[in-house]
Amino acid sequence: MAAQIIDGKAVAEAIRGELAADIAALRERHGVTPGLATVLVGEDPGSVSYVTGKNKACATIGIRSFHHHLPADVSEDYLLKLVGELNANPEVHGVLVQLPLPKQIDERKVIHAIDPDKDVDGFHPVNVGRLMIGEEIFPPCTPAGIIELLHRSATPLAGADVVVVGRSNLVGKPVAVMLLQKRAGANATVTICHTGTRDLAVHTRRAEVLIVAAGRVGAITGDMIRPGATVIDVGVNRIGITASGKAKLVGDVDFAAASEVAGKITPVPGGVGPMTIAMLLKNTVHAARLRLA
Ligand code: NAP
Repeated sequence: MAAQIIDGKAVAEAIRGELAADIAALRERHGVTPGLATVLVGEDPGSVSYVTGKNKACATIGIRSFHHHLPADVSEDYLLKLVGELNANPEVHGVLVQLPLPKQIDERKVIHAIDPDKDVDGFHPVNVGRLMIGEEIFPPCTPAGIIELLHRSATPLAGADVVVVGRSNLVGKPVAVMLLQKRAGANATVTICHTGTRDLAVHTRRAEVLIVAAGRVGAITGDMIRPGATVIDVGVNRIGITASGKAKLVGDVDFAAASEVAGKITPVPGGVGPMTIAMLLKNTVHAARLRLA
């Protein structure tokens, strides 16, 4: 039987609608318009497209955008000074510096320079620590998007066997920690797999919820999935790149084979991807609300 598709585009759209109503209420009751500052360094096409997408999404729901596009050879000092100004600007509630940065700039220094109370990406060590102890205010956007998809697809998590493939600081580790917390909407038994895992399939085959963030085409085949499992494919891989730079996007999971075994599955594109920006918007609105408090 074909798996039910978890439609990330539709869920992200619903979240944007909810946020637009929250923003209208913030403006009406408190005269506050949430503001997001984005900083883009250089012309990397992927980064340009992400930041453009973020600013467009802000505009559609009523978040003010403050965009700074700096040349690829900008100095670290200049960027740190700009971050300091954005930290001090009361109209800016969230600050996002698009990664990766050119090699003359120490990414860690930049992440550390962002005010943790404006760190809507959730990458500052203070926010990573808050996440670890279950007191997060800005959960990182992709993991938060995964959790939202699980909740909105009514996937049971309490006591569930969850297997996460990938241990990056961006996706694997934070999503595992969030699902592990002893609270409603989490409380799962979580296993994290990586390239050092001895027999990946032994773990994935017992997963009631399988989250795959490996960045490898075909990392998960149909026979590695437990019948009826919920499969969240985070991977974004470009294949068949043409001379004009066009490519097909595929995930880490063999979608056709997995759909025959899984109970629910996210497609690529149209699964986790749209959720990441939706969660950034949510964190920005939350940052504006926190300032009021
Ligand atoms: P990453 O930093 O490269 O980490 C990949 C992780 O997967 C590593 O921990 C690696 O293990 C593990 N891994 C790789 N191949 C494996 C295999 N065959 N078996 C078991 N583990 C394996 O990547 P990332 O930043 O987490 O991103 C992962 C994927 O998600 C990428 O395709 C990325 O483009 C995508 N992504 C999508 C979104 C979105 O919004 N949709 C956001 C972020 C990332 P080791 O630690 O042992 O090397």
